[in-house]
Amino acid sequence: MQFSKVCLVFDAMEETASRLALTDLLAKLFSETDKTEVKKLVYLCQGRISPQHTGIELGMGEKLAEQAISLASGAKAEEIEKLYKKSGDLGNTAQEVLAKRTQHSLTQHELTIAKVYDNFYKIATISGQGSQDTKIKLLAELLVNSAETEPKTIIRFVTGRLRLGTADATILDALSVLKTGTKELRPSLERAYNLTSDLGLIAEIFYKDGLTGIEKIIPIPLNPIRPALAERLADAAAIIEKLGECVVEAKYDGFRLQCHKDGDNVAIYSRKQEPMTHMFPDLVQAIKQQVKVKTAIFEGEAIAFDEDTQSYLPFQTTITRKRKHGVSAKAKEIPLVLFAFELLYADGIDYTQKPFHERRQKLEKIIKNGKIIQHSKIITAKTPEQLQIFFDECVANGLEGIIAKDVNALYIAGARKFAWIKLKRSYQGNLADTIDAVVVGFYRGKGKRTEFGFGGLLTAVYDDESNTFKTIAKVGTGFTEEQMQWFNDTLSKIAVKEKPKNVESNIEPDLWVTPQLVVTLTADEITRSPTHTCAMKNVEGLALRFPRLTQIREDKNATDATTEKEIVDLFNLQKNIQLRDA
Ligand code: ATP
Repeated sequence: MQFSKVCLVFDAMEETASRLALTDLLAKLFSETDKTEVKKLVYLCQGRISPQHTGIELGMGEKLAEQAISLASGAKAEEIEKLYKKSGDLGNTAQEVLAKRTQHSLTQHELTIAKVYDNFYKIATISGQGSQDTKIKLLAELLVNSAETEPKTIIRFVTGRLRLGTADATILDALSVLKTGTKELRPSLERAYNLTSDLGLIAEIFYKDGLTGIEKIIPIPLNPIRPALAERLADAAAIIEKLGECVVEAKYDGFRLQCHKDGDNVAIYSRKQEPMTHMFPDLVQAIKQQVKVKTAIFEGEAIAFDEDTQSYLPFQTTITRKRKHGVSAKAKEIPLVLFAFELLYADGIDYTQKPFHERRQKLEKIIKNGKIIQHSKIITAKTPEQLQIFFDECVANGLEGIIAKDVNALYIAGARKFAWIKLKRSYQGNLADTIDAVVVGFYRGKGKRTEFGFGGLLTAVYDDESNTFKTIAKVGTGFTEEQMQWFNDTLSKIAVKEKPKNVESNIEPDLWVTPQLVVTLTADEITRSPTHTCAMKNVEGLALRFPRLTQIREDKNATDATTEKEIVDLFNLQKNIQLRDA
């Protein structure tokens, strides 16, 4: 397919926030795509060139992109720089400069999806001596052959500034609409996607083998599975009422890891499917030694353990190991323990389709309990009292709380269901859980804070129905000086001139940012609010009362943040807690 067709659709997508309109635009584009190119097109629609777990990222610096524009157009670097300063958008500048070319080269070729994708792929993967020059040439080659709005799309794409606003769910809907005219196939497509985390692969199989191919998909070792998530209830009694007799596990406040063993190959992924294998050399060894089958996929919570005090260290300490440098030094300094809690696949068998008690039995059988990998602590509770005793014991041991699990439930990848219910040690006030909110804007500092250029955050929760972010709190407290500096540096890089189209807000911060950074907040309670747009009905929404920052959650994507629906549930839960404690 000609790339110009894709650009026309991308242009239209950048103009609309309506999920329905985006789905229709995509479905139409898919209808003109064949099975040899659909995989590439889907990645491009995701703003990627390969799934997250492959670690292949394009992210070309603006300076390199400017050099490519110069090479392709013959315009001087200073001229490009000047125009860019004026427009604030390098994509528009590229289009402007290339449109001025008086002569079109005789050897100019029409760009296809395959050509554009292949050059992008090479740019992302080439390394070593002379690779900068090759990247510039590969990009310039595309620009030389581009026309109309193609330069704009190409440049925005390589510099990570293309704002299509396509959620993965919209792409799944569009694939379904393509075949049936309705969204009816979305659950089957979504199941397959949740098991493989590769939307391009799903689209390719769907084009080749239709729904039958999709329904046959089971987990694939080395392809991360999207995580099952926990619901919340107010207390032990409510959990037992919901689940009856259940298993209860310690909730470790660490770092969720998914471990894959495929013969001698081991891969470790984060909660958002990032490759993390290089961060955990000690765990890689342990997986090879302690996992007694050839292929397996299992999950656990990695937590730092202080041998001297025999105590667990909190999430923040665990995450310091994420830093790329000094990995082996850190491994010695803060030894990690992985508490394995779920088995998802073993030697060709899809354990996501087995009830919890079978998964657990097999997990204990195939993973030897050892120094680094240990089975998570688990009990069976028949009564609220038994659950409460175990909860109190966990909290006394410095853990976060418990997760109760339905013994008969399957592993539901990528969804928050009552198969798992979390109960955390109580927070101040009446809030039953912390909130993971997305930063959508920030304020410049006043008074002492002027020196950091940072005064606070405007935060939002995610509405997965409309794929928009709705504000819930302005956060001005809980920051260390180091964090203020960090926020100023990080947010300045993702600041945008106008309110992003996927943000719903009645408040204007000093600067808007692209919604991508997740922060954990605590608060006294959730209150009704005339200004915040979360759960807005008529003139009232919901907001956090006295919100404070507790953590920066780099292991979550914006779409993994607390959802609007969860806030409504938490608000109702809070009413139960207040009634109970009255
Ligand atoms: P939180 O921010 O409370 O950790 P979350 O949004 O990351 O929650 P939830 O589904 O709400 O995810 O809670 C489950 C999380 O608890 C898992 O993602 C995992 O990181 C952690 N966890 C710790 N111990 C366990 C366990 N024994 N079983 C399952 N999950 C556990």
